[in-house]
Amino acid sequence: MKKKITILPGDGIGKEVTAEGKKVLIKIAELFDHQFEFDEAAIGHDAIEATGNPLPDEILTKLKNCDAILFGAIGHPKYDNDPTLKVRPEQGLLKMRKELGLYANLRPIKLFDELLEASSIKPEILKGSDILFFRELTGDVYFGEKGRKDDNNTAYDLMIYQKYEVERIAHKAFQAARTRRKKVTSVDKANVLESSRLWRQVVTEIAKAYPDVELEHQFVDSAAMKLIQNPRSFDVVLTGNLFGDILTDEASQIAGSMGMLASASVGDTVGLYEPIHGSAHDITGKGIANPLASILSVALMLDISFGLKEEAEAVIKAVEETLKQGLRTADIADANTNKEKILNTQKMGDQVIKQMEKVGSRQVA
Ligand code: NAD
Repeated sequence: MKKKITILPGDGIGKEVTAEGKKVLIKIAELFDHQFEFDEAAIGHDAIEATGNPLPDEILTKLKNCDAILFGAIGHPKYDNDPTLKVRPEQGLLKMRKELGLYANLRPIKLFDELLEASSIKPEILKGSDILFFRELTGDVYFGEKGRKDDNNTAYDLMIYQKYEVERIAHKAFQAARTRRKKVTSVDKANVLESSRLWRQVVTEIAKAYPDVELEHQFVDSAAMKLIQNPRSFDVVLTGNLFGDILTDEASQIAGSMGMLASASVGDTVGLYEPIHGSAHDITGKGIANPLASILSVALMLDISFGLKEEAEAVIKAVEETLKQGLRTADIADANTNKEKILNTQKMGDQVIKQMEKVGSRQVA
């Protein structure tokens, strides 16, 4: 198979982890006889420094014309500490999602058994958790009208959803639930928010087309509690942009670390694959970032954008085998981890590649 992949390393540890994701793609091409052509572009702080624009138009055109995008993360302390700066890295990310029509963000939360002890949640509560989040990505407060008034003493962000935006992601969530345990939990705040009341009404309507799938509604505050209390009670979780952002960070603790969670953003055009974490200024340049979320994002790309299920499975299996060897990055190590088995970013990537070679050689045999 011949595919054009654009790599957007972005800022901070985005660059460090994406380099490992790319290594895995190169190895897949070699093992399974595919041709992946790579192109690389700047986004976020780097792009602002170079061009004054966090996502220049020529990069956007490039993105529209490739087969899949592997993205790292954007963000820089300069902007986090100065909210008055008008040109900001996250504008590049939001523009990319909107312009590419990436309205559905899929975040699988699956715990590798080897990491049961790495989470701050008790193993007996976690074991067997397997949740697929559908976070809406191009609506909500992120894109609603925002501003200041009353001499800068009042600020507002409009939480807004249109019916078609809820419908299209609800269909995707119900379709996915059909291939899993056939349950959708729709999360909103319909007791307070009008946009949530529309959300609930539309999801209830769409559910009628999927009588084989159970639908339950939960308020976001209750869902936040139940995710930690009984994560196994969730199958597919369908929610808006803001609630999804917060709940999936919380759910990262089910998987052991932010460094383990991959995501796929899909919609009208090309698919974009990225870890859920940010640019992590606190560990940038130290070489200790966990690359597994980026590597697992590659598995999602192979599966969802290219339909290469066997190749995707080979990547996931290689990650699993690496963890079975007791190898860890610092964020997923626990008190029992042998210090010699704590690897830096590159070495963790190398170990996954090594395991992929084993999977590949078994196939040839
Ligand atoms: P973050 O996700 O970057 O980091 C949160 C915590 O998790 C940090 O302690 C970090 O060290 C740790 N962590 C994250 N990824 C890790 C990995 N792969 N391995 C090991 N540890 C990891 O969130 P933050 O600190 O709130 O934000 C930092 C910057 O990232 C900000 O500028 C923010 O705007 C940006 N951000 C970008 C995205 C994105 O690009 N999609 C998402 C969230 C935050």
